[in-house]
Amino acid sequence: MAGAVESCVHCGFCLPTCPTYVTMGEEMDSPRGRIFLMKEVLEGQLELETALPYIDNCLGCQACQTACPSGVDYGDLITPFKAYAEQHRERAPMDRVQREMMLRTLPYPRRFRAAARLGRLARLLAGRLPEPLAAMLRLLPARLPKAEPLPAVLPAEGERRARVALLAGCAQQVLAPDINSATLRVLARNGVETVIPPGQGCCGALGMHTGAADQAKPMARRNLEAFAGVDAIVTNAAGCGSGMKEYGLLFKGAPEHDAAQAFADRVVDVSVFLDALGLRQAPAALARPVKVAYHDACHLAHAQGVRSPPRALLQAVGGIELVEPAEWELCCGSAGTYNVERPDTAAELGERKARNLLATSAELIATGNIGCTTQIQTHLGALGRDVPVLHTVQVLDRAYAGTLIPASG
Ligand code: SF4
Ligand code: SF4
Repeated sequence: MAGAVESCVHCGFCLPTCPTYVTMGEEMDSPRGRIFLMKEVLEGQLELETALPYIDNCLGCQACQTACPSGVDYGDLITPFKAYAEQHRERAPMDRVQREMMLRTLPYPRRFRAAARLGRLARLLAGRLPEPLAAMLRLLPARLPKAEPLPAVLPAEGERRARVALLAGCAQQVLAPDINSATLRVLARNGVETVIPPGQGCCGALGMHTGAADQAKPMARRNLEAFAGVDAIVTNAAGCGSGMKEYGLLFKGAPEHDAAQAFADRVVDVSVFLDALGLRQAPAALARPVKVAYHDACHLAHAQGVRSPPRALLQAVGGIELVEPAEWELCCGSAGTYNVERPDTAAELGERKARNLLATSAELIATGNIGCTTQIQTHLGALGRDVPVLHTVQVLDRAYAGTLIPASG
């Protein structure tokens, strides 16, 4: 942490990219302000309680890291600081209940599916529940898609060009199971055999990014074992990918560190993997031009530095005209559990993102993270607009199948 603190020269270049600084306008709600606060707490100059409201406001989007000319590794600072803060803070009872409910539900697909079903019934009572619980219920989708069980392995079509393992994910499996199915189909079509190791579990990113390192570590250990012996671990959720790329940091100084770092080095987003491999055959050109806006998920663009590969894959589809929304670097407000913990700021950011995307006149929005998909869909809906939001691999999959443009479109 000390290295990251010392490399900040207080230049302020990060300020316009920080969603909390942009919406709240407070120095202490900027990256520079938070770095100062964390330093003061760690040096014993400031009470943790004084810094916590500003630390809790941080979305962990890492836009500041992308903007910083001095190379401040903000992720290396905020993740361990949140873990430190969690060990030393007193949470209010309702705050504890909300946090425990999320940590004990979201990372487990079966529990999440059951909770989502119960939650839809409980929404009828939302007006009588405490606000934190009501905020959780409001986020549940009106309908859940049917589960799509995954095979143990999906062979490559034609000559095999690569063999990878897929992280199946947690909430995404429940909210949008088609993303995994589309990933498998697109990989197979491009000569990739995919195994889905049965022993895998949640990547632990939710715990890591909310200070619950004690929950994240056993999850990470389970994955270290489940994915042993594969060359590449492909993910299609930016939050999971960035979490797994932090396994080395999670086990810093621990006996597992080297294995965890080796694991992290094998993690690759599906867009990066496919772009590097090269599509064996591009999908047939669309029957008419379609404007597609690409939304950069923070955990892909900022945390992993991935911006070109998904764009290159989308542009491989003849007829797609890629358009760029204003303020690409600003978080949509989803950020893990942020829209439950800070619903007002999350909603402000969600609406701002939806308006920027609509201003492109795109017919379709592509992105690489389920949290962003859900948040953007919610805010497009609130504005009365029904623009489809798909993962990049879903766009490719539908383009290959000839179903990207509805028959009536
Ligand atoms: S851009 Fe980097 S060095 Fe400048 S204030 Fe922000 S974090 Fe500090
Ligand atoms: S991680 Fe995001 S919200 Fe937090 S300080 Fe950096 S830019 Fe601001």
